[in-house]
Amino acid sequence: MHYKPKARGFAKQHAIEPKPTLVSLVVPVLNERDSIKVFTDQVEKVFATLTLPVDYEILFINDGSVDATEFVIRSLSKENPRIRLVNLSRNFGKEAALCAGLKHAQGDAVIPMDVDLQDPPEVVPEMIEKWLKGATVVNACRATRNGDTWSKKATAGAFYKMFNMVAAQPIPENVGDFRLMDRQVVDVICELGEHARFNKSLFSWVGFEAATVNFERPERSVGKSKWSYWKLWNFALDGIFSSSTAPLRIWTYIGGMAAFAAFSYAAFILILTLFTGNSTPGYASTVIMILGFGGLNLFALGIIGEYIGRIYDEVRGRPLYVVRSLHGIEEDS
Ligand code: UDP
Ligand code: MG
Repeated sequence: MHYKPKARGFAKQHAIEPKPTLVSLVVPVLNERDSIKVFTDQVEKVFATLTLPVDYEILFINDGSVDATEFVIRSLSKENPRIRLVNLSRNFGKEAALCAGLKHAQGDAVIPMDVDLQDPPEVVPEMIEKWLKGATVVNACRATRNGDTWSKKATAGAFYKMFNMVAAQPIPENVGDFRLMDRQVVDVICELGEHARFNKSLFSWVGFEAATVNFERPERSVGKSKWSYWKLWNFALDGIFSSSTAPLRIWTYIGGMAAFAAFSYAAFILILTLFTGNSTPGYASTVIMILGFGGLNLFALGIIGEYIGRIYDEVRGRPLYVVRSLHGIEEDS
């Protein structure tokens, strides 16, 4: 089965010629001056040998870089019209940058990628092939993560297990943002209005049958990771709280069990007092209960606070990101 591309912005520019099938590589970048040329060269090399009937664009989203990232991309785009740029007004984070990318991508299929070659362009032809054969989503599954440190692998593994335990819609383990999505899927994702974005979960929430390709995740090509453990921790919290209400609901059960234990203990004390008279009341058990239940209350309040904070963000309805300028992209696209 062959995919028939819909008429879109890019096709408009070539109104008379037959419409090329366009694949958008969406690449958020933050202070990646040295990685960009390495990435675009590698992509060009891969597409030069591609025999499939597709064209491509590389859409960079400059997520508030303070180095020469913008300069490098703009000079490259002068030589190569396939390189396009969305400049954000400051650093909004990778998730927001990716949203900006999906919104401005003009392709019939979109592939979010990291610029550091940890999502290897060599895998892209296989993904495109599966898409042209009819897959709506093609997940790129990390067969190994040799490029990541031991602690990162361990924490990521624990997160996926925990997430899939509580989330309504599980996410496939070892699939990051690197995946091919048909235009139909991208349009749905762009319409989702929520502000607390956890793209991996949104991508799988949309559904559609997914094909898979496997790849080895290499080490970062140049530069260093932009994610500190604190950022990752907050990202994980965002992921869980924006995809599940289980942490809220669990308090019904914890509260129920605590109340049951308290009533049993009250009955025990009552019977003891009736039969043995009122000996000196237990100081230790009172303090333990006050501290224990106080702690549980505060913890539960904290969880509720996490949700209220997010509700506050949603009702304020601020845009997810602010675009400073577009290069090589029509304003209305
Ligand atoms: N990135 C971004 N905004 C951020 C953090 C990261 O656009 O606030 C980009 C970064 O430039 C890279 C991609 O997201 O292209 C993945 O980042 P990184 O390689 O640092 O993450 P890791 O691979 O360590 O998870
Ligand atoms: Mg990386």
